[in-house]
Parts: sequence; structure tokens; C-alpha cells
Amino acid sequence: MRGLSKRVKTMKPSSTVAVNAKALELRRQGVDLIAMTAGEPDFDTPQFVKDAAARAMAAGKTKYAPPAGIPELREAISAKFKRENGLEIPPDQTVVTVGGKQALFNLFQAILDPGDEVIVIGPYWVSYPEMARFAEGVPVEVNTGPESGFIPDPAEVEHKITPRTKAIVLNSPGNPTGAVYPKEVLIAIAELANKHDLYIVSDEIYEHLIYEGEHFSPAHVAPDRTITINGAAKAYAMTGWRIGYAGGPKDVVKGIVDVSSQSTTSPDTIAQWAMVEALNNVEEAQKFISMAREAYRARRSIIVDGLNALGLPTPQVNGAFYVLSDVSKIDPDENQAALKLLNEARVAVVPGTDFAAPHHVRFSYATSEVNIRKALERIASIL
Ligand code: GLU
Repeated sequence: MRGLSKRVKTMKPSSTVAVNAKALELRRQGVDLIAMTAGEPDFDTPQFVKDAAARAMAAGKTKYAPPAGIPELREAISAKFKRENGLEIPPDQTVVTVGGKQALFNLFQAILDPGDEVIVIGPYWVSYPEMARFAEGVPVEVNTGPESGFIPDPAEVEHKITPRTKAIVLNSPGNPTGAVYPKEVLIAIAELANKHDLYIVSDEIYEHLIYEGEHFSPAHVAPDRTITINGAAKAYAMTGWRIGYAGGPKDVVKGIVDVSSQSTTSPDTIAQWAMVEALNNVEEAQKFISMAREAYRARRSIIVDGLNALGLPTPQVNGAFYVLSDVSKIDPDENQAALKLLNEARVAVVPGTDFAAPHHVRFSYATSEVNIRKALERIASIL
């Protein structure tokens, strides 16, 4: 047997996905576990979206879709960019993908040649550097810490730009930090892209989950070179439907579509019709989003105050549904700390290692207040 490719052998599987799968398996075995692993809303998908999927199925909309997505959804995405972000992105510059994740994966395949550098701002979502590496690119890290609220200094970003730099990845509100970058920072970084002829990859999947401050799309500053990524999962509690999308320069979007056409063909057709409704039924969608956001806001206070009171330093951040907590008090090695939390407290978290956040673990507070309080009690009992 000649074995697997180097590319696959050197790829790290996603730790967020792996840790969550482990938590689900333990639960299936009857272990009383509080899973604060995956970034997955605990709310059910809103009924009006499910109804649209049922209607689509009943109407026989169950066949292949074009690789860029059904035209009705591309129109809805274009209208959403205009309505919610003030961006002019025509439907033919949008693409529907199998989750935001596929948009990013295909994008790196589309824009990177071997050795091209991609600037990622740590602590970052585990998949950015691995996707860049899988496309034979080289991730280059800019690190941020709790002292700056995980906000990057644009001068430091510029310092990392070389003749091989191809793109800068931005993710505000961010996973795993929850940081919402100030508008000036986003503008300054997007201006760097203009100055140095780079792409901006702006992952805006958490845009609706902001508790203080406002969302800003860097595509306003660098419209010809920004690829804005978003999706159904976090805003509409549709993680399992696997619908993401991107909007950006025509040739880049075509690249993303071409990679889809040779891999997944198109995202699920029924789910695309459900997404048309999620985007176009603005009133119902806003009701759902506001309800979820207020619930997360309340949970954020409970977890941040609770962890700090236990002596686990946890900065208050303004977005998404994650906190990064310094768990040195449990064990200076974050993997050991996460194991201890799992085995002794029965609280599942993601160790910070693959996020470039040593000594930290990520708690997702997309779980009920009751669960968060129970988790805090359990952690207190092992300290
Ligand atoms: N993005 C979510 C997380 O970080 C979902 C899992 C994944 O795809 O990484 O937990």
C-alpha cells in the first residue's frame, strides 16, 4: 500500500469539530456532560424557515442546483448585502456554498499558489491556517492578547506583509475571542490591502451577534479586493443545513464556483430555498435574531462574571458567543486543563492550542443559562 498524500498526512483535523464530536459521543453513552464546545446555537431553526424547506420539497425542488447557487438565493444575498451591510454586490458576484467553511476552503484554493502567504490574526479560528496550508499557502500569524481585548494593531499587521503576502483574513466578531474590531482598525487594515495589493478575506458569520458596538464590513474600503463570507448557521440557528455564501470580485467568485463544480456540484437545493426565506422574510428573521442576541447577551454576563469569580481570567468581549478563559489555575497546559474539565467537572470545552491561545480554553455560551450556571458550579467543585 503506497499510503496517503503528504497533503492529507500533514493536515490537522479540526479540533473544534473533533472535541464536539467527542462530547456528543459521551452524551450518547449517557454521560451527564455540559458541552460548551461547538459554536452552535442551542435554539432550533425558526419555524418559518423550516416551513419554506417543506414547501420546497413538496414542490419538487429536489434536484441539482447551479454550482453558484439558485438565482433566487443569489438575488436574496445581493439584497442582504445592500440592506444590512450597505454593500453593492450584484447577484453574479455572489456564490452559495456548503457552509461558510466551503466558501473559505474554495477561496484559498482559488487565490493561493504554493508559498503564498496569508496573514491570520491570532487567536484565530482553527480552520483558517489549515485551509491555507491545504492550498499550499503559508499562514503568517499576527498575535493579539487579552490586554488589547484581542484587537490587532494595524502597524503590526503591516509589519508582517512581504512580497509573498496574498491575503489578510479578518473575522470580526471573532471566533474564538468574541472580539469586535473597532471600525478604525478594520478601515486601517483594509487600507493596507489597497496599499499592498492584497485580498481581504472578511469572515462576517457572527455579524448579528454584537452586544456593544457596530458591525462594519471592510468591503466598504476595499471593494475590489474583499471577499465577504457569511452564512446561515449562526444567525438563523441553521448549522446543520450547511448554507454559506460569499460576495466579492467576479474572477474570485468564479474561482470559488469552479472548485465547487468539481467537488460538491452545489449546496443542498432544499436548504437553499429555506435560506431564501431566512433572508427575504426580514421581519421574522429580525425577530429571531433579536431574541437570540438578547439571550446570548444575558449568558455572556453570567459566564464572564462566573469564570472571573472563580479566578479564571476571562475578558468581557462584545460579540459572537465565545469567551477565551485563562485556565492556568487548573493546569498551565491548556490541553490538560481541558481534559480535567471534561473528566472531573464534566464540562466540555475546546483547548486553545489550535486557536494559538496557549493557557486558554474556549467556552461557547450558546447553551442555556441553567447549563452555564451548572457548569460554573462544577468547575468550582474541582478548583
Ligand atoms: N465554527 C464553529 C466552531 O468553531 C463550528 C465548528 C467548526 O466548523 O469549526 O465551533
